[in-house]
Parts: sequence; structure tokens; C-alpha cells
Amino acid sequence: MILRTHYSGDITPEMDGKEVTLAGWAHETRDLGGIAFLVLRDRKGLAQVTLVKKLVGKELFKSVRSISRESVVQVRGNVKAEPKAPRGFEIMPTEIRVLGSAEVPLPLDPTEKVECELDTRLDSRFMDVRRPSVLAAFEIESAVLRSIRDYFYSQGVTEVFTPKIVAAATEGGTDLFPISYFEKEAFLNQSPQLYKQMLMGAGMDRVFEIGPIFRAEEHDTRRHLNEAISIDLEVSFADDKDAMELLEGAVVAAYRYVTENCLRQLEAIGLNLSVPKVPFRRITYTEALELASERDVKMQWGDDLDTETERFLGETIGEHYFLTDWPSSIKPYYTLPYEDRPEVCRGFDLMHPRMELASGAQRVHDHGMLVSRIKEKGLDPAGFEFYLNAFRYGMPPHAGWGLGLSRLVMTMLNLENIRDAVIFPRDRRRLVP
Ligand code: ATP
Ligand code: MG
Repeated sequence: MILRTHYSGDITPEMDGKEVTLAGWAHETRDLGGIAFLVLRDRKGLAQVTLVKKLVGKELFKSVRSISRESVVQVRGNVKAEPKAPRGFEIMPTEIRVLGSAEVPLPLDPTEKVECELDTRLDSRFMDVRRPSVLAAFEIESAVLRSIRDYFYSQGVTEVFTPKIVAAATEGGTDLFPISYFEKEAFLNQSPQLYKQMLMGAGMDRVFEIGPIFRAEEHDTRRHLNEAISIDLEVSFADDKDAMELLEGAVVAAYRYVTENCLRQLEAIGLNLSVPKVPFRRITYTEALELASERDVKMQWGDDLDTETERFLGETIGEHYFLTDWPSSIKPYYTLPYEDRPEVCRGFDLMHPRMELASGAQRVHDHGMLVSRIKEKGLDPAGFEFYLNAFRYGMPPHAGWGLGLSRLVMTMLNLENIRDAVIFPRDRRRLVP
């Protein structure tokens, strides 16, 4: 059964006379007496189907009146060049079939003519994604993933999968979702950190993973969710500088691919996207504090960046930048301190003016140092035995990072809320749909 020969967006006035079969949703119907219009929408656009009563006969003409908005329809007909119609063509139908009828009223209006609350949209996400600008964001997300995978392959990186059901926390702490695992307690993993590092000990050299991370923090912000997709990279025989180059490379690859291949989607969102220039500016944590000191900063050297300082830096710098050389005290135990000044470490964050996009570092690869770092953070090395073992029998120097997919997409598309970049978001209140 052939349901569709073309998408609406593929039809041009030059196809005048050609028979096509379209399938999609009844975006709009209008009955003007002797003439009626059915606007069909599919994921590539709209097509106006024009029914002239005298031409199509009473039966077909009448049938259009009974099609409720958003029903799924299949239309067979001929393309007719028509300068007055949207995009210069209309479809003169010979057959219209309803494949799935829509109930009345609709849970929300998918035409984008009406503004709608985020919660209402998320409750009926299947209907919300029918809105072209919403769909466009998710199509772009797919393009971003494709381009980053391609970039990784071009850099000789192997894709891996590590377990999401784990026995121990990555960084200690309490921000884990416990689950019952037969007679044991287990957790949903907050990060593939330990596993990707173990794969460096396994000799895989360069790995990446794109998968979910789970954080049980009770956030209520526009950039945190309890389940997120992380793009993780780990590379051996590499330092923090190498990792930063791979990170800006991945980000720019994504921007470039989207600007070249997602014109229709960018138009639906109404965005004129430009590719950020590399290398991104690198500023140290200490320089950032100095920069911010012309303002009234409350934070001290050693504190995590507060939101005001972060916002000030974003506004001042105005483009992507790296924050490097963080105080060792606020970065995780696996971050390598500088040899000559151990209070500073080789950790970095990739920042968009609006928020943090990624965190990374050159890692501690010496077993003894790792054990002491774990203890310094008040954690028990016994709980990390499976991880520490990989450092005892020949671990190469290595570095890596984790980049939040939704934050990358949200900042790229200038979306207000991370929930606009996740089809079915999970937050403190939302577990359905
Ligand atoms: P933040 O300080 O913004 O809460 P983080 O430093 O706790 O983030 P990391 O552990 O560094 O996050 O995770 C690496 C990346 O994963 C982050 O830079 C971000 O892009 C993404 N990420 C982390 N936590 C979340 C979350 N709760 N929701 C969405 N994305 C997240
Ligand atoms: Mg971070």
C-alpha cells in the first residue's frame, strides 16, 4: 500500500500536472460554498488542496466538510501551478481518505496561532510536536547528534555503552535515584565518568557515549532536568588542552551541520544561526574573578561560580568560552591538580553566555594519587575498588568531558527552557507522559 508519494515540502509549481499522493494532518478546512479548501500538513510543510464542487462532484466535496481538524488524511490528486496559492501550487484531488479521525475539541491548537502554556503543551506533547517550530527543534537535535557522531568518527573515536544501573555513586553524594535490583540496592547512574575512564585502562584509547544521566537533585530551573542526555568523551594520551580542542570541534561541527542542512527547520523557528568561531576564548577561573571584580562580587576564590558572576561573564564575553584552571577543592576527585600548585586543577567548563554546557578535565591517572584524592573528598576508596583496579595495571594519561545535549540545543536555538529541547522531560513534578 502506497500511503504517500511526496511530502508537501517537496512539491513545487514546476510539477504542474503530476499526480501525487500526500498524507498528513488536516491543518485547516474551509468551505466557501462552491469551493472548499483542505490544508494538509506533514512534517515538511503545508499543501493546499482545492475542491471545486463542479469538478470533484458532490460526494467528495461533501466529505471534506466532515473531516475534523487534525484528522489524518490521504489525498490523491494532481499538482496545479497556481500563483495565488501558498508556495505557488495547489492540489486538485481525485480521492480523499480519512485514515485516522481526530476527536473534538483538541487538547491544544497545533497551528501556532495561539500561545499555549508550557505545562499544557507538555501534557499533550504528541499534539504539541505537530507545531512546526516544536518539531523543528527535535529534528535539529537529531542533526546535532549526527554531526557530533560524524565528528567523533573523523577523530577516530569509538562509540561505547556503559551501564545505567550501577552499584555506586560517581562522586559520592546523595543525588542518586535508588532502585531495587533483586536483593540489592542499586542506582541510576549520574554519569558514565568512572566507566569511560576504566575503558582508558582497557586500551580503547578514544571513546564516546551518548546516553542518559540521572540526577536526583530537586532543581527548579530552566536548565536542569532529572534525566538528561549527556555526550561524553574520554581520550587517552591526551591532556586538558586536547580535550578542549575536541570539545570546541564537536560544538562547531554541530553548528556548521545545522546551518548547512537544516534551513527549513531554522526557518520554522525563525532563527538566523551563525557558526561560532574557534578557538573559543580560554580564561582561567582566577582571571574570571578578576574580570568580575569590577562588579560587586560576593564570591571568594575557591567558591563555585555564583549565578550573578556567571551572568556577568556571559554578558561581558558574549560568546562561547572556556573557564579553566579551577580550584581543586570544587572539582571532583578525578580532576588532575597542577603539579607545582596543587590547589589549582586541570578542570574546565565550556560556557555559553547563558549557561554551562560542559565540564571536563585532564584526569588523575596515578593510582596512589587517586586514592588520596578520594579520601581528601571525604569518600571511602573501598567503595571505588572496581574503578581503582583499572588504575593499578597500567593506566595511560587521559582527559575527557561531558556535554549536555539539551543545553547545546537550547542555547543554539535560543530556546527559553530546557523543556523545549526535550520531548518528554523529567523534572521534580513531571513523570508523565
Ligand atoms: P550545573 O552546575 O549546571 O548544575 P553540573 O556541573 O552539575 O551542572 P556536570 O556534572 O558537570 O553538571 O555534567 C556535565 C554536563 O551535563 C553539564 O555541563 C550539563 O550540560 C549537563 N547536565 C548536568 N546536569 C544536568 C541536569 N540536571 N539537567 C540537564 N543537563 C545537565
Ligand atoms: Mg559541571
